[in-house]
This record gives sequence, structure tokens and C-alpha cells, in this order.
Amino acid sequence: MIYMDNSATSPVKEEVFNAMVPYLKEEFGNPSAFYSLGRSAKKAVETARENVAKLINAETREIIFTSGGTESDNMAIKGIAFKLEDKGKHIITTVIEHPAVLRTCEYLETKGFEVTYLPVKENGILDIEDLKEAIRDDTILISVMHANNEIGTIQPIEEVGGIAKEKGITFHVDAVQSVGKIPVDVKKANIDLLSISSHKLYGPKGVGALFIRKGVRIETLIHGGGQENNLRSGTENVPGIVGFGKAAEIAYNNLDANIEKLQEIRDLLIGEVLDKVPEAYLNGDREERLPNNASFRFAAIEGEGLILRLDAKGINGATGSACSSKNLKASYVLSALGLEDAEIHGSLRLSLGVENSIEDVEVVSDAIADVVGSLRQMSPLWDNEKNESLELDESKFTDVDH
Ligand SMILES: *Cc1c(COP(=O)(O)O)cnc(C)c1O
Repeated sequence: MIYMDNSATSPVKEEVFNAMVPYLKEEFGNPSAFYSLGRSAKKAVETARENVAKLINAETREIIFTSGGTESDNMAIKGIAFKLEDKGKHIITTVIEHPAVLRTCEYLETKGFEVTYLPVKENGILDIEDLKEAIRDDTILISVMHANNEIGTIQPIEEVGGIAKEKGITFHVDAVQSVGKIPVDVKKANIDLLSISSHKLYGPKGVGALFIRKGVRIETLIHGGGQENNLRSGTENVPGIVGFGKAAEIAYNNLDANIEKLQEIRDLLIGEVLDKVPEAYLNGDREERLPNNASFRFAAIEGEGLILRLDAKGINGATGSACSSKNLKASYVLSALGLEDAEIHGSLRLSLGVENSIEDVEVVSDAIADVVGSLRQMSPLWDNEKNESLELDESKFTDVDH
């Protein structure tokens, strides 16, 4: 099997698993307990906190453990909105954020907040001028993701952070896809809040963190026993946090080597696929992208068919189209790049991981060429004689309501 869907989730590393096991067995103490079993659990949680902080150049006490990226995004955005609503009720974000950010912003709109969703250019990157123009006197929060989960495009967060700081606006970054993959420095980018998830960086699922810059106050959403500095009550997920900390430590120690390795595989993969498959295109910016992301689209292809046939060949990837039915929405991220639904349906996201090797490239690119070729032979949108896609004459199509 060749797994290339690491942006959906990544396999738990052996060292991470081994670090967790004692905390599922004999080291089962509650970190709030004062006897040694509790103190030992507490110590393990604090070591993990140090490792997570180090990975993003934060102070240890600026890290709050959560149940994952989704909770961290909710905590940051609602926490700031409810804390600062007397100051203003305007929030700025982008149209390509993860649903954890978009649905949270939409929820806040039902509570009287106003949200500006910035567009992106066709390379998937926001226009700084649009951001500057969107800022109002009552803007309380700017939330911009670091790297996009579908197209891997990296946003200019240092520039955004500079503007936010100058205007005195709180700045949140969903860095779930970038932490552990590329350098993330909360100080350099003037970030106030930053979301991280363990399972996207070879740690266990159901655990994550929110970085909250010292001095930034948010409204508490989860009330109870007062754990995590009174911001996130509930007995800590000790084994999960320990695994997350170990994964963060490994990511920190191997950051440069992994970037170099993944970039080499990614570039070869992009080259081979574009070379072997006619009418294949890369989604997102060619340079400003995660070292592990290769997002393609193929003319006259349905992504679901492609995924299933690749799966049958032991290759795992993802498609950007929710469903081939016209009634269901195509990927909003790819739409935001200005692509037509028909183009979006033929998309394939391959997200590499440290387990992948340069040898995988040949196998995967050959499999894609083979599967795309055979799917096209059956496609009414493909001219098999000329080996090119047919010009679509929209007038020949009638809408069918299902
Ligand atoms: C996966 C992901 C999330 C959600 O993280 P979970 O830990 O799965 O809740 C949020 N934002 C981005 C960009 C993601 O890729």
C-alpha cells in the first residue's frame, strides 16, 4: 500500500505509540492529584507542552491543550469574538479556510457579528490589498490559515501579522497543515492565536493545542474544574497529550531533513504526473506550497472513480469534489481559484508523508496515467481518436433534477 493522504490524517509513529503506552497503563494518574502518580502524569503533560511550544517558538505557558484542530479554531474565534464584542463585531477571514473556521464564523453571523470572507487569487493566495481594504474600525479579529489543506498553498502570514499588529487587531492562524511540516514562528509572524492538531503530524487523533500569546484574553467556552489555565476544563487526555508532545519533538528534530526529502519526492511526482498524463494540471501556487502537497486536476475525469481505482491498486489519495452529482457542491477551495465544476470534479490531492519514498513516484504516476487513460476511454467528454478533451457545448446539455 502507498499512503498519500497525509493531509487527511497521518499514521502514528512507532516512538509516539511507545511513549503513550505507559500512560494508558500503569501511569494512569490524574494530573490534578497531589500524590506521586498524579504528579508523574502532570510532569508528562508539562514536558509535552514544552515540546509543542518549542515547535512554534512559543513560551510553554502559552500552550493550551484541546481535543484537536477543530476545537482550537472554535476556541480562538468564539473566544475572541465573545471577549471583544463590546469593542467591535467585525471579523475578517478567507473563503478557503477549513470548515472549522468557516462554520464558526457563520455561527457568529447568526449572533450579530459581521464577517468578511476574502477571496484568493487563482494561485490560491490572498491579495494583501484586499485585506487592507477590508479592515474597519470595528474589526476585532483576522483569521487566516497558514497552509491550505486541499491545495497546500501557503499564505503570507508574516505580512498579515504585521498589518494586524499595526492596526491593533487580534490575529488567529489555523496552522494545522503547516506545523511540523514547515517552519512556524509565532513571534516572527506576530500571531496572537494559533491552532495545531496532533494527528496531522504523526501523533494520535483527538488532541491538539491552541497557542494563546501571553496577554491575549479570550472568553472561556468550556467551564468546569479549571484545568488548562481555566480556559479548557476537563481532565487532561494524558496519553494523547504525551503522544502529541513526542510527535512535536520528532517533527522539530527532523524539520529540515523532512522538508528536503518531501520536496524532492513532491517535485518529481508533479513532474512525472504532468508528463505522463495529457491535460493534467497542478492546483495552487507552484512555489508557495507545502513540501508534501501535490494537488492535480485531470480533464474529463470524475475524482471518485479515480480514487476508487487507485485504491484498488493500493494507492490512497483524496479528491476535491464532494460528489459527482451536479446537485452536490464541488470543492469550495477549488471554486475559489476560479475553476469550473467540471474541472474540479477531476481533481486528485496527493499529500506525502515521511513514510513515502522516491520509489513510490514511479508506481503512483504510472498508476495515475493508467487509471486516467482507462477512465477517459469510457468518458463522453474525451475524444479517444485525438486523445484530447471535447469542447463542451453547454446548449446540448439539459439540466436534470434528481
Ligand atoms: C484537519 C484540519 C483541521 C481540523 O483538525 P482536527 O484535529 O481534525 O479537528 C482544521 N484545520 C485544518 C487546516 C485542517 O487540515
